[in-house]
Amino acid sequence: MTLRLHDTAAREKHVFKPQDPKRITMYVCGPTVYNYAHIGNARPPIVFDVLRRLLTAIYGRGSVIYARNITDIEDKIIKASLDTGEPIAAITKRYADIYNADMAALNVLPPTVEPWATDHVAEMIAMIEKLVRKKYAYVGKDGVWFSVAAMPDYGKLSGRKPEDNEAGARVDPGEDKRAPADFALWKFAKPGEPEDAIWDSPWGRGRPGWHIECSAMAEKHLGRTMDIHAGGIDLQFPHHENEIAQSECAHGEVLANYWLHNGFLDMGGEKMSKSLGNVVLVHELLKDWPGEVIRFAMLSGHYRAPLDWTPELLKQAKTTLDRIYGALRRVWEAEGGRATYRVIREALEDDLNTPEALAALSGIASAANTAADQGDHEMMAATRADLLAAGEVLGLLTMTPKEWEQGGDADDTARIDALVAARVAARVSKDWAEADRIRKALAEEGVEIMDGAGGSTWRRI
Ligand SMILES: [Zn+2]
Repeated sequence: MTLRLHDTAAREKHVFKPQDPKRITMYVCGPTVYNYAHIGNARPPIVFDVLRRLLTAIYGRGSVIYARNITDIEDKIIKASLDTGEPIAAITKRYADIYNADMAALNVLPPTVEPWATDHVAEMIAMIEKLVRKKYAYVGKDGVWFSVAAMPDYGKLSGRKPEDNEAGARVDPGEDKRAPADFALWKFAKPGEPEDAIWDSPWGRGRPGWHIECSAMAEKHLGRTMDIHAGGIDLQFPHHENEIAQSECAHGEVLANYWLHNGFLDMGGEKMSKSLGNVVLVHELLKDWPGEVIRFAMLSGHYRAPLDWTPELLKQAKTTLDRIYGALRRVWEAEGGRATYRVIREALEDDLNTPEALAALSGIASAANTAADQGDHEMMAATRADLLAAGEVLGLLTMTPKEWEQGGDADDTARIDALVAARVAARVSKDWAEADRIRKALAEEGVEIMDGAGGSTWRRI
């Protein structure tokens, strides 16, 4: 099997060849932490988590260095601090914690390194100094600017030329750029801006631009050339184009050998936007759906295609996962099989074809049911091993079938277990009224008690 990835820069699928198979480096642009992440923000971390898991399956544990940054200095964060009077560090710590908890609930593994922009201002200044010295950047009245005209192949990732954007690029009246497409490497502090958003620099007090943050953090943690740089298609231009400009002009080396971009996520055919009132927060969604259902729904489309996010997509994901966990339950005791899950690996190694991988996962579930019907223990053990191995690379089936049926919430499970035990005790002491009261109370919250020879169990219906 050979891993092939669609490289945005080459505009075609390429066989993936790491620089060093023992140390594969990848960088995914992380969140700007001043509010909750919406479901569109969750697409890159989920799909590129599958890539990271796949690389680990291919190259071995500990072979992938995965960096996902925290942007904790940016205009929107400063605005949030000015609006509320809350220190920047308090805002960013809170929302970074929420973000990481949301991602954990979606079975997104924590990155190997999580650099925070404010811990890397010295590295950013060093890179800007290099760019000024090499005449790729100039100092203006409002800040230090990258001169797009100084880089002949600017635009090579997106295929856009600086003049394509001049019509659209906004030049604020106060900005003293030489060309509209030039972008800020360092922004001088303006009166009234909070002290905790201001750093000293050789050119004057201020803060780094957003693009230089990623360039400097990537160099520090992954070196000058990384294997894979990934992110949402909305970041391809200008953010990733500008990262390339900064890093490659500073170092004279390629920033990334493979560029991966995921497509947009729409809401029932419309763009998600505040003005349409259709923004769905991950945090809210997790109150209604298990993280695995959200993850399954996200992986049901190919990562490069647009994905239409609808309630039906989530319902379908829940139904399918119920069925797969149901099959896993039937083969759960048949341990000792050897995983082959070849079809799933092949699908994923073909540019992360998750829709095909999920279809194959359903196929293994069907085979597990057939094996259980026929009492074929060898096949039961093999399908069990396949389901679990495929689950590991997809970030699914991380619960036991029992946990899945019972909702996967440990506190809630303990509470319901206690109620079921109380009902058993009531029945033993022939307190039928109490036993019935508990049964009805649980039924009202959608919990069904099943009395059998082995005692009483329960499930959510
Ligand atoms: Zn970035």
